[in-house]
Amino acid sequence: MVRHPQPSSMRHADGTSPVRLCVGCRQRASVDELLRVVALDGQLVVDERRRLPGRGAWVHLDPDCVSKAEKRRAFPRALRVRGVLNADGVRHHVQRLVEQGGRGYPASGDGTRKQVDPS
Ligand SMILES: [Zn+2]
Repeated sequence: MVRHPQPSSMRHADGTSPVRLCVGCRQRASVDELLRVVALDGQLVVDERRRLPGRGAWVHLDPDCVSKAEKRRAFPRALRVRGVLNADGVRHHVQRLVEQGGRGYPASGDGTRKQVDPS
């Protein structure tokens, strides 16, 4: 399980940072905690600078949320795209970010690797 960091200060929408719905876990979060994703030629592309035109879908920086969104086909729905969108690019992007974050998330992401205590 991955825990989402909750902001300790409850800030309301007073123009500080907008709030979006994560298409994976369907929870509201500040855009600072979310990744903007757009559809380009049947592929999901991470919009790192949040400047690409068109509709965007928002998802947590969490492989769980990405795979949840994939399973529920939330990306094509949110982006109003017909058919299937390949989310591999987004998944790799999120995994890389999580690894850089030093949380030690396994690259496989499915929990098959377990730490065994030698004692
Ligand atoms: Zn989420």
